[in-house]
Amino acid sequence: MDNFYCPPEKISGGSVLIDGDEFSHLVHVMRKKSGDVIGVVDGEGTFHEVTLEEIKKKQASGTITATSGNHLEPATRLTLAVGILKNPSRFDFLVEKVTELGVIEIIPLETDRTIPSHAKTDRWQKLALAAMKQCGRAYLPRVRELTQLGRVLDEYDRFDRKLVAHEQVNSSVSLRTLIGDVRGSILVMVGPEGGFSEEEIQKCLSMGCTTFSLGQRQLRTETAAIAIAAQIFG
Ligand code: SAH
Repeated sequence: MDNFYCPPEKISGGSVLIDGDEFSHLVHVMRKKSGDVIGVVDGEGTFHEVTLEEIKKKQASGTITATSGNHLEPATRLTLAVGILKNPSRFDFLVEKVTELGVIEIIPLETDRTIPSHAKTDRWQKLALAAMKQCGRAYLPRVRELTQLGRVLDEYDRFDRKLVAHEQVNSSVSLRTLIGDVRGSILVMVGPEGGFSEEEIQKCLSMGCTTFSLGQRQLRTETAAIAIAAQIFG
């Protein structure tokens, strides 16, 4: 079934209203017609099966025939804070893949070794939306503006576990072992191309973060981020 996005405020009384870009996609690209059955996701975890009713010039309405709450969402709520990369298309890839895997929030991170670059938050949010629909997910991960590492540490209290991927950890503790059967909110931080500075690692440790290794090879930032999401949701 093809999924379309409709925010909760456009869903009420058993019907949905689709307009804007989603309307164009529904009618002009996917050529849906009155009577067709489509999937509608609200970006907050709810999936509706909808029969299209009236298709007007700029909006379409439909009737909900079935609803599934917290649709396919994992119990673990993973926020990935990831150093932004010199080449934004590598971050595009990362956003798409970690959305498919089940991440709920992506924080583009500015760190000591960030190579000056711009966060393309609007673009990444749109990529997350497309990935959400494509993979059948109903929750739209939030992509934040560029945030300094210190700022993320200020939000520390809202996470049950805080972990830092660090390639120089001389220990055999794997991420899988660390996670165990923890359920709840987890923050995992991944460094940019040049990695985290020693001061950043010390700051994170002093605040109670745990470092972990993904093995002896030095992975690219986006590989590390995708591997982390895959292990946590695997
Ligand atoms: N320190 C390196 C490369 C950093 S790799 C350099 O100086 O070039 C980018 C980020 O990916 C790291 O900061 C870390 O968060 C993550 N990462 C890469 N390989 C890793 C590994 N084997 N274990 C844990 N994290 C890793």
